Amino acid sequence: MQIFFPKEEGQEIRATILPDVAKKFTDLGIEVVVESNLGSEVFVSDELYVESGATISSSRESSLSTADIVCRINKPDISEISKLKTNSIHISFLDPFNEKDLVNEFSKSNITAISMELVPRITRAQKMDALSSQANLAGYAAVIEASRTLSKSFPMMMTAAGTISPSRVFVIGVGVAGLQAIATAKRLGARVEAFDTRPVVEEQVKSLGAKFVKIDIGETEETEQGYAKELTEEQIKMQQEGMKKICSQSDVVITTAQVFGRPAPRIVTQEMVHSMKPGSVIVDMAVSTGGNVEGSMVDEYVFDNGVTIIGMSNLPGEVAKDASQVYGANLFNMIEEYWDSDSKELKFELSDEVLKGCVITHEGSVVNELVKGNM
Ligand code: NAD
Repeated sequence: MQIFFPKEEGQEIRATILPDVAKKFTDLGIEVVVESNLGSEVFVSDELYVESGATISSSRESSLSTADIVCRINKPDISEISKLKTNSIHISFLDPFNEKDLVNEFSKSNITAISMELVPRITRAQKMDALSSQANLAGYAAVIEASRTLSKSFPMMMTAAGTISPSRVFVIGVGVAGLQAIATAKRLGARVEAFDTRPVVEEQVKSLGAKFVKIDIGETEETEQGYAKELTEEQIKMQQEGMKKICSQSDVVITTAQVFGRPAPRIVTQEMVHSMKPGSVIVDMAVSTGGNVEGSMVDEYVFDNGVTIIGMSNLPGEVAKDASQVYGANLFNMIEEYWDSDSKELKFELSDEVLKGCVITHEGSVVNELVKGNM
């Protein structure tokens, strides 16, 4: 069994695995091949991978064509799919609801494609949950980026020259990223408030020492997996009305609101941006899925009326080494779960609850019910 880790392309800084996770694979008896310079952006040399038992490949094409499993972080270029070995497994983030051509190409090429964003949220799969492992680090990085951009200190300081007031941070959306953003802003000494449409998070917000903002928007629902359901237009308006004042008083607003399989809800209007003090900062963590903030742009710092709107699409990449560490661990945990150490093969049953959730294509067809319904 051979597993190949091609180097990520474009602006990606993260590496799919680090050497200590590569060693775990080789300890299982799996042959690990990494593309040369896989870890160069996180200062991990090829020699360190070799020490962990991996082989270095200088021919991406030939390694793609011989590997039984190919793992990456980002979705592949469609042109590389036909180069994969028939019946091999490809694991990465895939964005399968928007990437119909990619899904069809996987199916046509007889590849078993696994989408990391569709790993179900059940206890057994938590160790494989890359959305959470990356969102957690993104929440941290968003606060650090905001604090660097804000021309004010986060903590209160009492000095001989007078008292500096703490920064006020408002976090909208309290899932994995939002919780880490709250915890990080609190650690830095800010005064933190937060809102989510799921009232169950109130206790979690309070347990971190932040204030939960109550806004009456009527009935809200969440899915079995804990995802928020989409609000009606009227509910969004009620939410905006309820948040106006808090936004105008905040030095930093961090938005993380997402609705599974749908574009992100537009919550912060330009009017709300303009009501903020000049010098304030907004981080729109939902920028890649349509954005929570009017005017935010992917990978841009937008200046609007003195307010900086940050739209970084790869916040985990700001802490790339840790992000690589936990992503690789998620992959290892997934593969180990199905590894049979006697036969040295993967025991893949599509009836398995985790695989039923995240396998998109198999043996020439689209097998995932959610994705099939969207094709
Ligand atoms: P997410 O990324 O889908 O969304 C982020 C947050 O935005 C969510 O808390 C959501 O309720 C909120 N949101 C949606 N619309 C909003 C709006 N209009 N205004 C304000 N907030 C809005 O969520 P997530 O981080 O993936 O987590 C969702 C839940 O699932 C959390 O409670 C999390 O703890 C839970 N979870 C469970 C598991 C598991 O394995 N059991 C794994 C990961 C997450």
